This record gives sequence, C-alpha cells and structure tokens, in this order.
Amino acid sequence: RNTMTHEPILPGAWLGLLGGGQLGRMFAQAAATLGYRVCVLEKDPHAPAAAVSEMHLCAAYTDRSALEKLGEKCLSVTTEFENVPADSLEILAEMTKVSPAAKAVSITQDRLDEKSFLSSIGAPVAPHCLIASAQDIENVDENLFPGILKTARLGYDGKGQIRVKNKAELTEAFNTLGRVKCVLEKMLPLWREVSVISARNAMGEATTFPVSENEHRDGILAVSIMPARISQEQADKARSIAKHIVNSLDYVGVLCVEFFILENGEIIVNELAPRPHNSGHATIEGCISSQYDQQVRAMTNMPLGDTTQIQYTVMLNILGNLWFKPDGNKFEPDWDKVLAFPHAKLHLYGKLDARKGRKMGHITCVGSTPEEAMKCALQVCDAIGLPKPEHI
Ligand code: ATP
Ligand code: MG
Repeated sequence: RNTMTHEPILPGAWLGLLGGGQLGRMFAQAAATLGYRVCVLEKDPHAPAAAVSEMHLCAAYTDRSALEKLGEKCLSVTTEFENVPADSLEILAEMTKVSPAAKAVSITQDRLDEKSFLSSIGAPVAPHCLIASAQDIENVDENLFPGILKTARLGYDGKGQIRVKNKAELTEAFNTLGRVKCVLEKMLPLWREVSVISARNAMGEATTFPVSENEHRDGILAVSIMPARISQEQADKARSIAKHIVNSLDYVGVLCVEFFILENGEIIVNELAPRPHNSGHATIEGCISSQYDQQVRAMTNMPLGDTTQIQYTVMLNILGNLWFKPDGNKFEPDWDKVLAFPHAKLHLYGKLDARKGRKMGHITCVGSTPEEAMKCALQVCDAIGLPKPEHI
C-alpha cells in the first residue's frame, strides 16, 4: 500500500476514525452518504459516532492491536478531537494514510507551540508569555496584566484557565493549575468572537467557509450565526488568514481557526482546532458542501466541494442543562415543539446520559434572510426553554 500517492480513494473503501463523539458522528454520516464504510476506534461502547458507523473497535486510542486493525482495514484515517496521542497517529501513519498529520496535530496540542507557529507565519496572536516556573512569574512583563493564565495543554470549553490581575494572583493561579506549563495571555477588549473553518487536500487545494459569529456561555459555545455580522473586509481577512495557516502547515483535512475581533477592529487568532468544529455544524444545512463533506473529500484525495452559503443560519447548541427542571429533576425535552418549526433542523447525538454542560445536540435554524433565521431561532428558544442569543 503506497500511502504517499494522491490517487483518489474511491467510495466503497473503509475510512478510519479516531474518536467517537458528535463531530465523528456527523463525519461518519457524510462518509456514508458518499458510499464509504466507516470504522471507529473509541473505547466508549455507546459512542455517538460508533452508533452510525459500520464497525466499532471498542478500545483505547493507545491500544496497539486496535490501531493495527484500524490501519490494516482502512485506506485513510482521520480524527475528530485534538488530544489524540501523537504516537497513535504515528503508528497508524506507518500503515495507512493519516490526516491531519501527527506533526500538525501536535502543534495545536500546545498553546505555546501554536502561538509560536502562528507568529512565525505572520498571523496575529495575543501578547503572551510562557509561565512554567516561579522565575517566569518573577520576570513577567507587567503589560500582560490583566491577563488569562491558560494551561498549555488539554484545555477545552474554558477549562484550565484563570483570570489574573497581578503577580500575586498569577502565582496563586499557577499553583491552582498544578504548576504545569502555562501561557499567560493579555486580556484583550473583544468586540466579537468569530471562526473560520478551512479544508485542504493533499493536492494543495484549499477552501474556507463563510465566517461564523460565535457566542459562548460559561465558556461553551452557545450560538453560531453564519455569516458573521462583520465587514466584508474583516471577513476576507479572516478567511485569508485561515487559508494561509492550512497552507503553511501543509495541512490535510479540516481545521478551525478561532478569532477575536477587537473593539478597534483588529483581528487576532485565538486558537486552532485540527478537526471540524462546533461553530461549523450549520454548514450541513447552510452551505453547498458541509465541513464533514470536506473532511471526507480531503482524506480521500478527492476534489473539495463548494463552500458557498445557500441559506442563512443560526445554530443553537443543546447542552444537557435543558434536561433539568429548576427543582433539579430530569425530563426529556419536548422535541415535537422544535419540529413544529419547519425551518428548524434538529440534530441529536444519541448520548444516553444528559449532564449539565454536556453537548447533546444542536438545532440549525435556516432562513432566506438573516432576520428570518434569527426569528426562527428566538421562537425555538422560547418553545423549549433554551437560552436566547444575546446579540440579536
Ligand atoms: P474551546 O476549546 O472551547 O474553544 P478553550 O478552553 O480552549 O475553549 P479559549 O478559546 O482559549 O479556551 O478561551 C475561552 C474563552 O475565553 C474565549 O472564547 C474568550 O471568550 C475568552 N478569552 C480567551 N482568551 C482571551 C483573551 N486573551 N482576551 C479576552 N478574552 C479571552
Ligand atoms: Mg476556544
């Protein structure tokens, strides 16, 4: 098997997926639509992706024999989360085509490496410094206060970060985070948070989706509006930075770039995710090709699809919180009330246990105008008790 050629991998072939979450589920659905067969490696027997895939290797990502089975069976393997052990990708890469490559994934696994890489290619990042010792705290530049201390590795949904106003608070935060390698970032005056999803194939073809405008609640994405309500110039700039990033990484697959737009209009790259992204769910209904279609096409050396947006979308994330009554008792939300809105597309990930903060599904509200999509979203929120978008 020659994994270096750019021959197309035709439908009917097995594709491998490391990870079993909702991003993997929607990838598997897109792959099945194109006639591929999907094998998932994931230790959770009830994994959302495994439930819609033809084969499930129920094992840890580090399980050598499971990795060998996956590599043996699949002509191409991808991932759906960023913290997949780089060693596992390397073991697979000896047997089959792996995208994204371990090298690109490992850069995004460490905030400091990621920022150094971004700076090296001229992409704007927040002022920051490494905090790994008492000495680093001693030497810290006072201009970084007020700032946010973030663990360099394994942070997600705002976990592993603490806001600090001065050296004393920085010391305390560093201790709270377990004195692991951290990055101190200057707190920036944010106007909007947006993201751009890009896809690139091994032949070097690269595309970007329209910019998504993202609203977080308690550190978790709550609402995405596509296209973002920013100037054409800002949108073009964000998309061109995203393209520059995937080209510079020689990236194959789907990558999300999260941006801050500052009050003065400046665009800063916040972070990268080497996979499809929550803020791109609406590409399923909103665009000619979705981020999941692109992931399948990129990993099979196929031409990429058109990312043009064909209808306006407002995406509402559904967290497990929706299952809880004010008194703490649980109930199943009235999904029929969502489906009563013909422009609301309900996606549930099939997770058995609704827990607070757990991503259980999403609803994409579509419209032929931005107002129509937003109106539908507001009505759906009212109907089932989801928190409403704040920036209407
Ligand atoms: P996720 O993986 O869910 O995107 P995360 O845990 O990796 O999140 P970040 O994206 O780094 O965390 O930060 C979470 C949120 O905190 C951002 O979306 C933003 O609202 C805020 N934030 C982070 N860094 C800064 C900063 N330098 N200035 C102002 N706000 C910030
Ligand atoms: Mg983030």
